[in-house]
Amino acid sequence: MDEIERIAEMLKNSKHAVVFTGAGISVESGIPPFRGKGGLWEKYDPEEVASIYGFKRNPKAFWQFAKELLIKTKAEPNKAHYAIAELERLGIVKAVITQNIDMLHQKAGSRRALELHGSMEYVDCLDCKTTYKWEDVEEILKKEIPRCKECGSYYLKPRVVFFGEPLPRDVLGEAMNEAKMCDLFIVVGSSLVVYPAAHLPFIAKENGAKLVIVNYDPTESDPIFDVVIHGKAGEIMPKIVERLNEKLK
Ligand code: NAD
Ligand code: ZN
Repeated sequence: MDEIERIAEMLKNSKHAVVFTGAGISVESGIPPFRGKGGLWEKYDPEEVASIYGFKRNPKAFWQFAKELLIKTKAEPNKAHYAIAELERLGIVKAVITQNIDMLHQKAGSRRALELHGSMEYVDCLDCKTTYKWEDVEEILKKEIPRCKECGSYYLKPRVVFFGEPLPRDVLGEAMNEAKMCDLFIVVGSSLVVYPAAHLPFIAKENGAKLVIVNYDPTESDPIFDVVIHGKAGEIMPKIVERLNEKLK
């Protein structure tokens, strides 16, 4: 039996599947990952552009980085995001846990997305506490580094988790619960090196779930997975859904 067939069969038999995604799922949408070849850390210093300390020293450097990541790429969901949303519509996937901040799962139609690192949806002025919607900030960012319209401050902070900040406890708690409750845990596009990404598959396995990973490069955790596919998420995920749909006919 090939891997696609095995995963489709596992999904068919699953009562509660959970998908866990990282930067790799958005690569085919044009957003580069942080690590590895072509990763953003070859060009940017994470301490400067993605840590809370760097942001407090110089918020403009973060916004320059955000512009490259989110504006220049004009990212739209890809086939992998849509395939995962379809698995949720079929009632098999109950939650998507993501490390991404790009909101592409929601754009693709996923309803229950647990964003471990927050998202760009809301942006707060740290000085006068005014809150902006991403769409408003996005329009300004296309032309210049955004400032607060009320007080002129550059300290506009999106509700994302910077390095040096804790993860949102409620979301993390829900993600842990999903990992414990699920009978199938599917990782798509994560190197599984950052906490809690590295732990969640282990929690799922300890609680009896089957594990699947679809990732371009091998990861150190591959040996604990029941099915491992090394390839592009946008090519593999639609094939899995197609095979599953044949089985559900
Ligand atoms: P990572 O950068 O460590 O690793 C990405 C993994 O994706 C790699 O192992 C690579 O082999 C794999 N990959 C690359 N292209 C792929 C493809 N087409 N299909 C399947 N897999 C592919 O990413 P990470 O483990 O998610 O951790 C980095 C952190 O950076 C995360 O916390 C995330 O929040 C953040 N981040 C988010 C975005 C975003 O929102 N899109 C982008 C960059 C980084
Ligand atoms: Zn302000």
